[in-house]
Amino acid sequence: MKYLGVIGNPISHSLSPVIHNRALEAQGLDYTYLPFQVETKDLAKALLGFEALHVVGVNVTIPHKVGIISHLDQISEEAELIGAVNTIHYQNGEWIGYNTDGIGFLRSLREDGGVNPKGALILLLGAGGGARAVAVQLGLAGAKEIVIANRTLSKAENLAQELAEKIPETRYRAVGFTELELQAEMRKVEILINATPIGMASYYEEKSFPLKQEWIRSEQVVADLVYHPMDTPFLQMAAAAGATILTGDGMLLYQGVEAYRIWTGLEPPVELMRKVLVEKLTNENNNV
Ligand code: NAP
Repeated sequence: MKYLGVIGNPISHSLSPVIHNRALEAQGLDYTYLPFQVETKDLAKALLGFEALHVVGVNVTIPHKVGIISHLDQISEEAELIGAVNTIHYQNGEWIGYNTDGIGFLRSLREDGGVNPKGALILLLGAGGGARAVAVQLGLAGAKEIVIANRTLSKAENLAQELAEKIPETRYRAVGFTELELQAEMRKVEILINATPIGMASYYEEKSFPLKQEWIRSEQVVADLVYHPMDTPFLQMAAAAGATILTGDGMLLYQGVEAYRIWTGLEPPVELMRKVLVEKLTNENNNV
């Protein structure tokens, strides 16, 4: 028996254990996936414990995605560019870090949305951790231009400048989060992505975007990273404008699918994992 798991703090709301365990069981693999609440000061001890207990693959979530890096032996290209790790694998006596968040978004865009971002013009709302993963992965996938719109303009400017240097094949540009700027960008873009928490059930701040339905065109693809609820007001507006919409559960699903592949070397039963995830997300009592 080997073990997989997720570390974070808090960790009790994580949907990963039930999703991964159902997939492992369906494939008859001799692994169990467990949640571990770990304090930041205990990360090094946790890794040593994992080695002793045959915990060979672990998802890493808030607040450890950046702090874990200094404890690892190697990290992937994506993780290096994103500056955060969400999956670790113990192999040949070394801990290797990956970031499957951006890959998860890309796979959702391609497989659920039927869209290839190569050569695309993209407007990304937000410049936090989720936006960063998406901006890196879409750049690596050959997007032509990614415009980052953020409430705190300096954060968008710093991210755009950093990624323009690291991924020179893609043009990165920063704009403010204002009606004037968003309207101008909306005339040009093919893909619009929300990577702010606006629309999230538990979010206590602003509930609306400085963005109007009449600016959205039916040829556009509109994606939300927010997955609780799946049917956000942002996506409702985009659907009413006739755009193709992509819900945030796809990114969440595929980041887990990619982690599973890294650990087991197998493609998991994706549709079973999607069914379990969607069941959990639509359960009204579930406070994710
Ligand atoms: P984060 O690092 O805290 O970044 C939040 C971003 O949203 C920042 O750019 C922030 O702007 C902006 N923002 C927050 N409140 C705003 C408001 N009222 N008006 C305008 N902008 C606002 O958060 P994150 O980790 O990137 O997560 C963002 C959302 O994506 C969350 O809902 C999260 O659940 C979701 N997410 C989903 C997945 C998935 O797998 N589907 C993965 C990652 C994240 P400032 O810089 O001005 O503060």
